[in-house]
Formats: sequence, structure tokens, C-alpha cells
Amino acid sequence: MSSESNVKGLLSLLEEAREYLSYLGELGVESLEDASVTDTAMSFPKATKASPDIAAPLSARHAALERNASALEEAAQPISAKPPSVLETLAGTASTIMGEIEMAKRTKKFPDEVPPAPQETLFGEVTPQDQESLPRADETLEGIWKDIGECMRCPLCCQGRRQVVNSEGNRKARLMFVGEAPGADEDAQGRPFVGRAGQLLNKIIEAIGLTREDVFIGNVNRCRPPQNRTPTSAEAAICKPFLLREIAVVRPDVIVVLGNTAMKNLLDTKEGITKLRGKFQDYRGIKVMPTFHPAYLLRDPSKKREAWDDMKKVRDYLKTTT
Ligand code: URA
Repeated sequence: MSSESNVKGLLSLLEEAREYLSYLGELGVESLEDASVTDTAMSFPKATKASPDIAAPLSARHAALERNASALEEAAQPISAKPPSVLETLAGTASTIMGEIEMAKRTKKFPDEVPPAPQETLFGEVTPQDQESLPRADETLEGIWKDIGECMRCPLCCQGRRQVVNSEGNRKARLMFVGEAPGADEDAQGRPFVGRAGQLLNKIIEAIGLTREDVFIGNVNRCRPPQNRTPTSAEAAICKPFLLREIAVVRPDVIVVLGNTAMKNLLDTKEGITKLRGKFQDYRGIKVMPTFHPAYLLRDPSKKREAWDDMKKVRDYLKTTT
């Protein structure tokens, strides 16, 4: 076997291990018996429902719990002796090396380092005085997307992505959703949130009395990471300025950040989603509501109740500011 395929094998093993660990971490479980996951429920309360019951039937959840707990247990066996931080570091490093190898193959030179993030002077002169609020953008979404082009700025360009997935939706939206990065369906269709998580997001939007056509939807990273791994902070730093430019054009009243990664990247915070969800934050004068990622809600439908509470706050804020 070549050393490249050795690295690939190691990479996919580490990614698998890292996914299970971060999954368990996200669920906040100390032991596998605590894991409560099911991939069946897609329900989210309808806007018209007075007292929404969003919990899945107990018997179904119990069966799913047992199924998933044993799957998790089996999958976690070989990695239980190693500390997660080491695995995560190794997976990230191996993935970056693969990306750089691919990028070097395409560009015929091995880059010394990941290209530096564009400076956040994209809104013009950013001085200490005007950092608080969002200046008006004198550009269009088309201009931003043209600038992005067939982006090769970070290693995600060359790790199997099919296309760049730009944001989409209502250019005058009062509400914007920001996710982490495209998955397989989004990568295939070139549109954000069109897979299972996207279908649940549509239900969430409808639950607060809006439609997908009313809102604007994007991601911090526009290229699908291999095996849907979390984008590295370098990859996020390279891609985020384009999202910030879109935000400056659309100027929504509220941004809902979906999940830990999107929240940390947009708000530049080290706090976790469990702590900040449900509490309005600020991005340059725009209200930001952190809530759980729909993919997480698909894995743990019991968390839909909290997400619904968060979305009611968004709905009420939008009502008070019309
Ligand atoms: N998950 C995301 O974070 N973004 C998408 O576009 C799809 C799934």
C-alpha cells in the first residue's frame, strides 16, 4: 500500500472515531447508557399548534435508544483507551495533510502554509469607532459570489467537494440562518440545507409562520468537508468573510446560528451552544440567536423542545420590531 493510501485509511478511521466522540460529547453523555438518540423523528411543531407536543412516543424512543446505544458502544470499543483530544488533533492534522497534498497536485506546487484569511476590512475602513455596528455594503450578492468563484482558497477545495455552495434566499430577509458547512445533498445540488437537516429546517421556519422564501440561508463554510467533518478554524477563517459580506448586504434583523460550530465562528466565542442557546447575542448590532443544529435535532429529537423555545423568542422579537 502507498503511503498516501495509508494516510487515507488512517484519516477515515480517525474521522469515524472523532465523529463518535464529538457526537457523544454533543449529547453530553458521561456513559453510553445515557445516550438518547433516534434518527426517525422529523416532527417539529406547526405554527398553529397551541401547545406543541414535540416528544417522540416513548416506546419508539426507547427502542431507538437501545439500538443506538449498542451501535455506539460497539463503535466506541477500539477508541475508548485513547483521549479524545489526541484523536481529534490527529484527525485534523491528517485531514489537513490530505488537503494540502490534493491542492499541491492541482496547483503543481506545495503551498508553504494555508493562505491567510482575507482581512476583515471588506466593509471598507474598519476603525475602532465603527466596529460596533454594521456599515452599509456597497456591493451586491452577485458580486460576492463572483468573487468567490470556483474557490481554491482553503484545503476544502481539494478534498472531494463537487461545488461551492453559496447562500440563497430572500435578499431583503429579516431572518437569516447560518449553518456549518454543506453536506452530501447540498454538495450535489449546490444549495444550502436541502438534505434531511434542510427539511427539518423548513419545518422550523414554517413553525414560526414563515416560509423558506422569506428567509436567507447560508453556511460559514461553503465547501463540503470530507466525511462531513467539522471545518478547521483555519478553513472557517478563510471562508467567513464572504458570509460577513452577505450579512452586510442583506442586513437581517435576526440571525439564527445553527449549532456549535456556526455559533463559535460567527460570534468568535469559546462558549458552547448549550450555554448560549436561547439567549440573544449581538453581531454588530444584529440580534443573533444560537440554537441547536437541525442535524443534531434529528439525532436527538428530545432537544426539539428547547429549539422550539429559542425559535419562539425569534418569532416574538420579529413581531415586536415590524
Ligand atoms: N448542515 C449545514 O450546516 N449546512 C447545510 O447546508 C446542510 C447541513
